[in-house]
Amino acid sequence: MSDYMRKGALLIISAPSGAGKTTICRKLLARRKDLKYSVSCTTRPPRPGEKNGKHYFFLNREDFKRKIQRGELLEWAMVHDEYYGTPRHFIEEQTKKGLNVIMAIDVQGAMSIRRKHPAAILVFVLPPSMDELKARLAGRRDASEVVAKRLANSRGELAAAKDYDYVVVNDDLATAVEQISCILTAETLKTSRLDPSSASFVTALA
Ligand code: 5GP
Repeated sequence: MSDYMRKGALLIISAPSGAGKTTICRKLLARRKDLKYSVSCTTRPPRPGEKNGKHYFFLNREDFKRKIQRGELLEWAMVHDEYYGTPRHFIEEQTKKGLNVIMAIDVQGAMSIRRKHPAAILVFVLPPSMDELKARLAGRRDASEVVAKRLANSRGELAAAKDYDYVVVNDDLATAVEQISCILTAETLKTSRLDPSSASFVTALA
C-alpha cells in the first residue's frame, strides 16, 4: 500500500531546555526518510553555529507580528520572553504528500496544535534528573541569566508532561530515539489514518 494512502502525521516533541530534544530530532531525521523537520520562526538571536532557515527563521518582532496577522503561522507562543511560531505552509505541503512532520515546540504550542489537529502525536521528553538538566544547560554558551530563566521555566513545563500522549526519558540517547521512532511507526499505521479514498483498496482485499 502506498504511503500516499495515508496523510502524514504531526509528531510534536516538547521538553524542558537541555533535555536533548534537538539532538533527538536530528537523529530521528537521519534515520527516517519519511520524516521532515518543521523549521520554526523566532525573534530570539541565533546561538553560535545556528543558521537562518535551517535551525530557525530568525525574524525581528515586526516581521514576526506580520506573519501572525497574515495567518502564516499554524501556532505561535511567547517562550522565555521571545516569540516562536510554526509556519503553516510547510506542514500542509508535506502531510499532503504522505510525509510526517516533526516539530520541536513548547507546551503552549503543542496544546494549540492538538486543538487544531487532534490526531497529532504529542511526545514529552524528560531529562533523567534535575541535576543532569542543570549540567546540560550550564554546558551551553548562553548567558547566565538566560540559563536561570530556562531552569525556572522548566518546572512549569515538566508539570505538563501528563497531558502528552507519550513520555520518553532521555537517559540513553539511542534508546530515546528508538522509542520515539517506534511510537511514530505504530501511530502512522493506525486504521484511523487511512485516507478515505483508499477504503476501496482495503475492501477489495477482504
Ligand atoms: P530554544 O530557544 O531553546 O531553541 O527554544 C526555546 C523553546 O521554544 C523550546 O521549548 C522550543 O521547543 C520552543 N519552540 C521552538 N519553536 C517553537 C515554535 O514554533 N512554537 C512554539 N510554541 N514553541 C517553539
